[in-house]
Amino acid sequence: MSDSNAVYRDLHLQPIAGQWRAGASGKTLVVSNPFDGAQLLELAQANRSDLDAAYAKAAQVQPQWAALGPSQRAAVLHQAVAIFDRRQEEIVDWIIRESGSTRIKALAEWGAARAITLEAASFPARVHGRIVESDVPGKESRVYRSALGVVGVISPWNFPLHLTQRSIAPALALGNAVVVKPASDTPVCGGLLLARIFEEAGLPAGVFSVVVGAGSEIGDAFVEHPVPALITFTGSTPVGRGIGRIASGGEHLKHVALELGGNSPFVVLDDADLEQAVNAAVFGKFLHQGQICMAINRIIVDERLYDAFAQRFVARVKQLKVGDPQSLDTVIGPVINARQLQGLQDKIALAREQGAEPLYEGGQNGNLLAPHVYGEVRADMDLARNEIFGPLVGLLRARDEAHALELANDSEFGLASAVFTGNLERGVNFARQVRAGMTHINDVPVNDEANAPFGGEKNSGLGRFNGDWAIDEFTRDHWISLQHRPRQYPF
Ligand code: NAP
Ligand code: MG
Repeated sequence: MSDSNAVYRDLHLQPIAGQWRAGASGKTLVVSNPFDGAQLLELAQANRSDLDAAYAKAAQVQPQWAALGPSQRAAVLHQAVAIFDRRQEEIVDWIIRESGSTRIKALAEWGAARAITLEAASFPARVHGRIVESDVPGKESRVYRSALGVVGVISPWNFPLHLTQRSIAPALALGNAVVVKPASDTPVCGGLLLARIFEEAGLPAGVFSVVVGAGSEIGDAFVEHPVPALITFTGSTPVGRGIGRIASGGEHLKHVALELGGNSPFVVLDDADLEQAVNAAVFGKFLHQGQICMAINRIIVDERLYDAFAQRFVARVKQLKVGDPQSLDTVIGPVINARQLQGLQDKIALAREQGAEPLYEGGQNGNLLAPHVYGEVRADMDLARNEIFGPLVGLLRARDEAHALELANDSEFGLASAVFTGNLERGVNFARQVRAGMTHINDVPVNDEANAPFGGEKNSGLGRFNGDWAIDEFTRDHWISLQHRPRQYPF
């Protein structure tokens, strides 16, 4: 959008401790469009002193923010929703340009971020303390729920607006202050844009800071800082593991919410509606070039349907339009950067080397990588074992339902999953045996609703986002008892 009326321009400063200013590291970050390499922004990265200032200010202003009445905090969130609506085009345009999202994906991301903001607007009125019974004569036992204090948020580049907002909006609504470290590929959608939105919505200065800096440089300091009571992290499993170690193994023990990698199985049982299963597989694999933690990573098909499925799937995949993400009909845009592209090309080479059957291998041009589909993938091959995070996929042949279940569970990850069957209760029976945080019957594994629990099992993470679960994650319980009459002690 080259519109001179655009509001979200000149985003080279960061909101640090209540002021928009340059980071003090002396290092420059150039943010570019993954599709055409155009430079979008140049900014001075933050360093440790910026981080200290942001956390200190957050700790200072958080009590006043938490002390506002629930409707006052809700009003800020409602204002933010109104701004999302008013500036939809501009926000969507930033998502497309900064993260290489197609228009379809950018609109979906805008919608998800808006939805969690609206959901979070209801949180201030949904925080409930409790009165619990006591066995001690004369004792009244209360449980208060309050804000944690300051929350540190580290977010990824794939759905930067949404995956940042799903921590920020609930945290703020519940009376916390927030400091965000966005991914270096997406500092605008992952932080700066949201800071502008909340500022306009009336959030007091200093309650929300953004520090832009490389995870490898300021990540440890961000996590081990004494101020944040909770670190929420969305990203890769190795980095998440390190964060868990620092946050709960260091000098200051903190809560952590970890949303990590996935390896979603997409299971097609022998009684599935083939057409619908193929349609779902195409969407669930290739939305955002496969760069989604919930994206289909393994397609497991009962051998009675395997050949027919493979043939129809490949026929559909060949037709997906690859190209400029601004074009309305583009389905596959660029992958985020050259490093990710190289990783995907290595995976392609490995798939061939390990004997996967090439069913379709599209081309490559710049960061554009067309779909690659492999058949007869075995459970021990790289394509099945590891998270792909790109437009490649393998088909696995299952002997029967029991074998399909065994294959589905044969992973260190347990985020999202899906099963297709003509019998919904058969689907539920299957789903309940899948070790995952989320299983969708007759749909894609890529589902995220603001009021439903989002999160993973096994090495896919810890904790749940959204709805009531976010209220738990972003508040703490405090047991306070009152002894109404003198208590008799044994000595
Ligand atoms: P990543 O390295 O885990 O990055 C995610 C976030 O963590 C970014 O903000 C990153 O900052 C930060 N970070 C990196 N190293 C850190 C450290 N030592 N301490 C604290 N923060 C740190 O993920 P990525 O490199 O962007 O992507 C690699 C893989 O992660 C993907 O291929 C995929 O497998 C997985 N991934 C998963 C999700 C998901 O939603 N579950 C999302 C994105 C990626 P910088 O950008 O400055 O490095
Ligand atoms: Mg970029």
